[in-house]
Amino acid sequence: MKYKRILLKLSGEALMGEKGYGIDPDRLEQYAQEIKSVKELGIEVAIVIGGGNIFRGVQAEHLTIDRVQGDYMGMLATVINGMALQSALEKSGLYTRLMSGIKMEQVCEPFIRRRAVRHLEKGRIVIFGAGIGNPYFTTDSTASLRAVEIEADVVLKGTRVNGVYSADPEKDPKAVRFDKLSYEEAYSKGLNIMDLTAFTLCQENNLPIVVFDMNKPGNLLKLMTGSEEIGTIIAN
Ligand code: UDP
Repeated sequence: MKYKRILLKLSGEALMGEKGYGIDPDRLEQYAQEIKSVKELGIEVAIVIGGGNIFRGVQAEHLTIDRVQGDYMGMLATVINGMALQSALEKSGLYTRLMSGIKMEQVCEPFIRRRAVRHLEKGRIVIFGAGIGNPYFTTDSTASLRAVEIEADVVLKGTRVNGVYSADPEKDPKAVRFDKLSYEEAYSKGLNIMDLTAFTLCQENNLPIVVFDMNKPGNLLKLMTGSEEIGTIIAN
């Protein structure tokens, strides 16, 4: 197997499926099945979930809520998504733990690195909610940081496009997809893979990033087995 321990980043927006807001139960179920298929290979799975389908910090300004307050609201949104994902995974027979960057003990465990690693070793899927617990960060940064902390082999950024393109493939028909990029290339070409904080953290720690289409059934499994070239890998 290519990877032993993975960190899967799912955006909140992905969870809303075709709906304009909130959580789509079919999408949730689909993700649970995809994750189950790789768990069955014995791969250790940690997940960071976003909150954009419910609330984003930058939205706050329009609501006359200040940025920091808005960011905390965004972090709480990720916990709601994490709880939904946890339920979906458990329904499909998997063992999970939700760990939060903000303490809320009635709902989930606080993030404790050693404990997270222990859960993974025991075969539990660990979902990291509430980002890193600080405003002015994103869940992409959370994904990079947690991946480094738990010594994951890779950050898998599940999106709705099958990799990194030279331009937005939904707008530019001439856009070409890259199979592989170095961190330097990705940076110098100005490719929008993750925010810079998240990206730099991966680069500094030599942590590969794979951008792939999470919505295509079977993709996650193919990525793990290496049976097919999926997405774009950014590594040295
Ligand atoms: N957020 C934050 N600190 C973190 C992670 C998230 O302040 O460590 C807030 C931020 O306001 C962000 C929101 O939570 O807009 C939701 O996360 P994000 O936008 O990254 O979710 P995604 O785009 O992946 O759905």
